[in-house]
Amino acid sequence: MFSGKVVIITGSTSGIGLEIARMFAAQQANLCLNGFGDPATIQHEITSLESTFSCKVIYHPADMTQPNQIAQMIKTVFDTFGRIDILVNNAGIQHVSPIEDFPVDKYEAIIKINLSSAFYGIREVMPFMKAQKWGRIINMASAHGLVASPFKSAYVAAKHGVLGLTKAVALEAAEFGITCNAVCPGYVLTPLVEGQIASTAKARGISEDSVIRDVLLAHQPTKQFVKVQEVAEMVRYLSSDAAASVTGSSFSIDGGWTAH
Ligand code: NAD
Repeated sequence: MFSGKVVIITGSTSGIGLEIARMFAAQQANLCLNGFGDPATIQHEITSLESTFSCKVIYHPADMTQPNQIAQMIKTVFDTFGRIDILVNNAGIQHVSPIEDFPVDKYEAIIKINLSSAFYGIREVMPFMKAQKWGRIINMASAHGLVASPFKSAYVAAKHGVLGLTKAVALEAAEFGITCNAVCPGYVLTPLVEGQIASTAKARGISEDSVIRDVLLAHQPTKQFVKVQEVAEMVRYLSSDAAASVTGSSFSIDGGWTAH
């Protein structure tokens, strides 16, 4: 479905972003991976994707806190492939703390990586997408873009911001064949969630098992973590021609969490 299309996925060295990259590679799209990680592991992933599927994969190490590096990544992708079709703004971090103890540098990093990086990336790809009159922008928000939880003030603020950004961009791009949508997963068992189990246990003074059962999955009526493959499938649909009229919307994939 995406043969010849060029896709940038931020934060695609791990978790949800990596699965989205694998999904697009399997559809013969050309990719730019991004994110932190061991260079040998990243190179191994690139070699594996290129040898398994008919696609070309590059990696750019742009730090999502740095607008200049984001612009440089977009330029490199255009210079390499001559087009940019799909941007998935997926990079994200979390920090869990009562607001009165929340480190200011953590707050600023979360706003930069989870919200501002999407603004900077969209700003750079928009001229290319407008010129070709086709584009898909998908912002990885969260159930925390729709509802809040205690001790996640920075993340909740950033993800609510992502939904506002999504709507504004959708309106600006609507007449250019470009759609912009947000995906709102519930809890997906990735390194990001594994990392917050311990900190949530500390913040609430309970065991890690209790965090999984009584805090995380308590929100999800299915009592199951969402799978990375399920999130990637939603991204695949939103990137398709079948979703040409779907724009400015957010899509929950949260096991019923936000139905409460
Ligand atoms: P993850 O920790 O597995 O992956 C995060 C990715 O972002 C990694 O590739 C990491 O290297 C990259 N990254 C972090 N800081 C970066 C920076 N400064 N510059 C460039 N890359 C950076 O996390 P995940 O769970 O796969 O999360 C991916 C997205 O999905 C995030 O936006 C997250 O908020 C969102 N999300 C996750 C869940 C969940 O339960 N896991 C739920 C809802 C939304």
